[in-house]
Amino acid sequence: MQQRKITLSESEIPDKWYNIVADMPNKPLPPLHPGTREPIGPDALAPLFPEELIKQEVSTERWIDIPDEVRNIYSLWRPTPMYRAHGLEKALDTPARIYYKYEGVSPSGSHKPNTAVAQAYYNKQAGVKRITTETGAGQWGSALSFACQHFNLECEVYMVRLSYEHKPYRKVMMNTWGAKVYPSPSDRTEAGRKVLAKDPNTTGSLGIAISEAVERAATDPDTKYALGSVLNHVLLHQTIIGQESLLQMEKAGELPDVVIAPFGGGSNFAGIAFPFLRLNMTEGKKIRCVASEPASCPKLTRGQFRYDFGDTVGMTPLLPMYTLGHNFVPAPIHAGGLRYHGAGVVVSQLLKDNLIEAVSHDNLEVFQAGITFARAEGIIPAPEATHGIATAINEAERCKREGKSEVILINLCGHGNFDMKAYEDYFAGKIQSHELTSAEIEASLAELDTPTV
Ligand SMILES: *Cc1c(COP(=O)(O)O)cnc(C)c1O
Repeated sequence: MQQRKITLSESEIPDKWYNIVADMPNKPLPPLHPGTREPIGPDALAPLFPEELIKQEVSTERWIDIPDEVRNIYSLWRPTPMYRAHGLEKALDTPARIYYKYEGVSPSGSHKPNTAVAQAYYNKQAGVKRITTETGAGQWGSALSFACQHFNLECEVYMVRLSYEHKPYRKVMMNTWGAKVYPSPSDRTEAGRKVLAKDPNTTGSLGIAISEAVERAATDPDTKYALGSVLNHVLLHQTIIGQESLLQMEKAGELPDVVIAPFGGGSNFAGIAFPFLRLNMTEGKKIRCVASEPASCPKLTRGQFRYDFGDTVGMTPLLPMYTLGHNFVPAPIHAGGLRYHGAGVVVSQLLKDNLIEAVSHDNLEVFQAGITFARAEGIIPAPEATHGIATAINEAERCKREGKSEVILINLCGHGNFDMKAYEDYFAGKIQSHELTSAEIEASLAELDTPTV
């Protein structure tokens, strides 16, 4: 029998997260205060996050111990399997050897619980009673609901009203894990009431939902806020994916030539890629790490590296990152968690220093790739994950043209079982190619008055 699955035992769950900042040739630039535009220190984050997470946010230590309680919960679904994609290799008739790491086996169906569990743990340790967050399509809200329930923390989720009404099942998942879910804008916050007074029928936005969740945390000493991507500590927690992948590749007797992951704010990309980048930076290896983004939200491939706000309203610190401008509104594409205007600070610096690569894919191309994958391998990928698959297919086709049997590793960051509407729209011919013009990008960037770097 061909070997398909590369598994690890529970005792092989890594006991350390990898902090890439320790090995970066150029460290990330400091965040700036949104008002004064002066560099801010870690204490500025204290109203929103517990001390231990703030320490991780600014840490330069290479290895950070994973607490036993967190590893215990990880063991509900970790180590996650890695598969050799024999079916996909055959479908593409490629000499490349393709592997994928499958994060869809977590309770909420994606990589997000890797950080949700860690964040809930450190909040519990700090005596916090309640965590607030925002969610768009619901992946992050459901991961955090699951994590909070494990530590007896209350979880309050502000869900963009449009998704709340159109994607009821993610909300029901959150309720099943005990979370309270409010359509945003709500009348529970100043920010929400202001928007509702102006437009009672608004469908909401992620920017407004962030403002509501942050306001709740900033105004209640028992409540903190949690974010599911972008920040350094979130990327750090996701490195469990790459740490396991290193062990699994070793078991398969391989080292990848290319590591590929879809890119929203950067957490699942960082998760799988950073432990391999360590080998490049410390052992002279030359593993290519490629981030895949939607052509209709192309911050890495067509954005600008400069300071920008993390939210639409302009409340967060200014971060040095690749951005399309915080007022950029991506077309309503089915790329769920990839529709964010900016990229994490650490990943942005790595791209600026040419230590990683980025590519973009059209809307139709990624659905075709997702369907090819589902038919060859069985698993129906999340719409986000199809971007990484599209990149891998292009790389496998290049290998065929060049007669090379390179090793390709994909992060299959989630399944698409709750995203059948997106697939239905594709089959019904309702999904169109979307070409973003340079003028649209320039117009969005021209609105920024934030510092360039
Ligand atoms: C949230 C999400 C993403 C995008 O976020 P990253 O921080 O870039 O990983 C990608 N895939 C899935 C399945 C998600 O839930």
